[in-house]
Amino acid sequence: MAKCKFCDKENYIKLKSPNMYLCKEYFVEYFENRVKKSIEKYKMLNKDEKILVAVSGGKDGHAAAWVLKKLGYNIELFHINLGIKDFSEISLETVKKLAEKLEVPLHVVNLKDITGKTMEDVRGKKCSICGTTKRYLMNKFGYENGFDVIVTGHNLDDEVSFILNNILNWNIRYLAKHEPVLPAHDKFLKKVKIFFEIEEELILKYAEAEGIPFTTAKCRFAEKAITLKHRAYFNELEKERPNIKYQFLSGYMKNRHLFKVEDENFQFRECEVCGMTSAGRICSFCRVWKLYKKKK
Ligand SMILES: [Zn+2]
Ligand SMILES: [Zn+2]
Repeated sequence: MAKCKFCDKENYIKLKSPNMYLCKEYFVEYFENRVKKSIEKYKMLNKDEKILVAVSGGKDGHAAAWVLKKLGYNIELFHINLGIKDFSEISLETVKKLAEKLEVPLHVVNLKDITGKTMEDVRGKKCSICGTTKRYLMNKFGYENGFDVIVTGHNLDDEVSFILNNILNWNIRYLAKHEPVLPAHDKFLKKVKIFFEIEEELILKYAEAEGIPFTTAKCRFAEKAITLKHRAYFNELEKERPNIKYQFLSGYMKNRHLFKVEDENFQFRECEVCGMTSAGRICSFCRVWKLYKKKK
């Protein structure tokens, strides 16, 4: 077995770019340094900000919370119980374990308490409704409880597959919107993706090296999303052209202004039902959960 580049220990991981073997200890240090550099490069976070980290039970959000706590940021955890049979129970248990290990507050919001329904009750496009729901509930909680920023675990593989999907469909409107930092506006908090430049595979190895609790349980409603295929293409390409994902993303960051469609007359307003910031008369959350019917 190949030895670590920096010491006599056996390797834990072989990095492709830069090409080197690292033992567990040096890999953890390498990983945390890369996150630190990303945070500095994109001016993502400050130590005096109150940070809410989205944790679903999966490795990405959990590793995000873990590394931020280790780097000395002021974090609390936020979890949504979607009421999905088995999956939600396992997820909640795992999230509780993480909060205990990190010794940070955990906030849990039950979808049913707010909408009267769970994801089990939704027919049709559960995945897109789930995305809308999570974004809304997290922002609302953060906004109402004095947080400055929301951190999610989206990683490099997520970003490149979303970008590729938007190129393949020429979704120009969305194509300019993949950013590591979305600034706050109206009642929307700042949103940060600390793993924007970090490969999914490295996050998994980090979570395992650090003994971070996480579950690999998958929601049974998860669509066989086309973006999963894009991930596979990228990983195939990566074998022949190491670092292609990162290069694709940095090229995108240099060129994404080309896709910016500014509508200067556009103004956000307050949702007539819930009062949160909305593009239309009623926000998408209130629309998908049909909350307007109750209030009339
Ligand atoms: Zn070593
Ligand atoms: Zn609303």
